[in-house]
Amino acid sequence: MNCNLCPRGCNIDRNSALGYCQKSNEAEISKVMLHSGEEPYLSGDGKSGAIFFAGCNLKCVYCQNYSISRGTGKRVSAQTIANLFVQLEQAGAANIDLVTPTHYAAQIVEAIKIYRPQIPIVYNCGGYETPEVIKELCNYVDVFLFDLKYHSNELAIKYSSAPHYFDYATKSILTAVKNKPNVWIGDKLVQGVAIRHLCLPSHTTDSFKVIDWLSENTPASSPISIMGQYTPCGDAKKYEEINRPLKPLEYKAIISHAKKLKNNVVLVQELSSATEDMIPDFNHQDNKFIY
Ligand code: SF4
Repeated sequence: MNCNLCPRGCNIDRNSALGYCQKSNEAEISKVMLHSGEEPYLSGDGKSGAIFFAGCNLKCVYCQNYSISRGTGKRVSAQTIANLFVQLEQAGAANIDLVTPTHYAAQIVEAIKIYRPQIPIVYNCGGYETPEVIKELCNYVDVFLFDLKYHSNELAIKYSSAPHYFDYATKSILTAVKNKPNVWIGDKLVQGVAIRHLCLPSHTTDSFKVIDWLSENTPASSPISIMGQYTPCGDAKKYEEINRPLKPLEYKAIISHAKKLKNNVVLVQELSSATEDMIPDFNHQDNKFIY
């Protein structure tokens, strides 16, 4: 079947041709680990069982995972992905955290059909999704962790080469909100929709608009993360306005605006987190590798 898994709509057979994401029908995995970097409402004191897929359907110039998003990984079958679910579960993972999964949604569904973990499956995606695929995925995954990177479609084109990003991301979020109601057990979100927004330097107004949209369109039970960890990576140096961390005043204004959010859980990162320490270090001793 031709691939139209994401808004790129390449409509090509990935067995014989490559689309925008440059990935074939064989899933590629960069890293599998017990990972402590996700929000506490997902993993509490425990660790996520993170599977980092290689490649990405976005091309963010400031990507903090360049080696993974632009790189190759180990080719795996759906059966191998299912086996990894088992291994992560047995290793004590609080959830299965599928990181940058969009271009492998079909292979992931196949794996879940082979083995359905007893712990929540988190679909940790960049937001450049189609509502149709998200609706189908509601039958398989438990928690959608969406990025909502931009309000301005022009910024999305400039920095992520992603036409109509806001339109696709918001329609996808609303589809998930409608079809996957939030379920909390204690302080853990075990089903539903959570959203992250990474604030960009020089674009506070765009962050205000993202917050306004979240305030008007997400249920109070959906957690929101406002992230100040931006640090220029990759090709960000080519864009003077984003070639620096956020200024304290910019972030203060965004946090102040975020006070209008009615969501019960709003996590705000410390600006001091905007250091290169936040660039994932996959060799860190705290990360226990499975694969
Ligand atoms: S997943 Fe890849 S091949 Fe499929 S539509 Fe998106 S970019 Fe194109």
